[in-house]
Amino acid sequence: MSLRVVFLGTAGSIPTLQRSLPAIAVQRKGELILFDCGEGVQRQMISAGIGFHRKTKIFITHMHGDHVLGLPGLFQTMSLLDRERKLEVYGPSGIRAFVEATQQTVQFTLTFPIEVFEIEDPSVVCKEREYEVHAIWVDHVIPSLAYALTEKPRPGKFHPEKARSLEVPEGPLWSKLQHGSAVELPNGRVVNPEEVLGPPRPGRKIVYTGDTRPVKNLAEFAENADLLIHDATFDDELWEKAREDGHSTPSQAAETAKRAGAKRLVLTHISARYKESSLLLEQAKKVVPRVDVAEDFMKIDLPLSDV
Ligand SMILES: [Zn+2]
Ligand SMILES: [Zn+2]
Repeated sequence: MSLRVVFLGTAGSIPTLQRSLPAIAVQRKGELILFDCGEGVQRQMISAGIGFHRKTKIFITHMHGDHVLGLPGLFQTMSLLDRERKLEVYGPSGIRAFVEATQQTVQFTLTFPIEVFEIEDPSVVCKEREYEVHAIWVDHVIPSLAYALTEKPRPGKFHPEKARSLEVPEGPLWSKLQHGSAVELPNGRVVNPEEVLGPPRPGRKIVYTGDTRPVKNLAEFAENADLLIHDATFDDELWEKAREDGHSTPSQAAETAKRAGAKRLVLTHISARYKESSLLLEQAKKVVPRVDVAEDFMKIDLPLSDV
């Protein structure tokens, strides 16, 4: 089952010809999970071939314009395309007033309901059957959240020979066991999934920091992440400016990735001063081997592990 991350916007604060404002799309089983919503996000979605009608949740890290001003335009485009499905928007204090103000002042007819979840006390902010989204406060110049999308463990590998030896008839009962439910055989005996399945297989984990200085609790939050997407607005030489503006440098992001044991690091929110990204990449590579600097429309597929 695919889990694809598409970087729709990778700029920091000011868009450039190469980089749009922050927005990261995660595509999972036909659902779209969007982290941040920079201006022009709908045009980036069109370029990336991401539709406007699917089940969608949007998680906003903080109320700086570069992360949130894409919402009104996205709402309007979705309405012009007659979206009917509910849209969920999550974010810190202010997100509700912003969404309401948009609806009260910008003149278009919204064709779908928007449910806003204002996060005051971050922990598990969204629970779905197969995954959860967790949030923590990070350290920016205004209240700002990091998010983790964590899939629940999947039932272990199904062993047909074990099912046969327990005389479970092939068909719907096999399917139930494969999905982790106990079944009752025609002779009244109950077979538990553990009798025919291997050990549970881990789900995947994606962590997005939003804008932040290096902060201690992030390493724990991103523990064993398959992908850590981290602010690296300025290069290491500009660490004082990064600290002042509430951002991180590549080596700081990489240190967090290393402490977290993250399998892969992607640097994003790249300042307009960097015309090309090799300097940022070099600085992070001194600390962790598996790192990329995000570019607009870069795609990362995270396969399921069979371990
Ligand atoms: Zn920003
Ligand atoms: Zn910011």
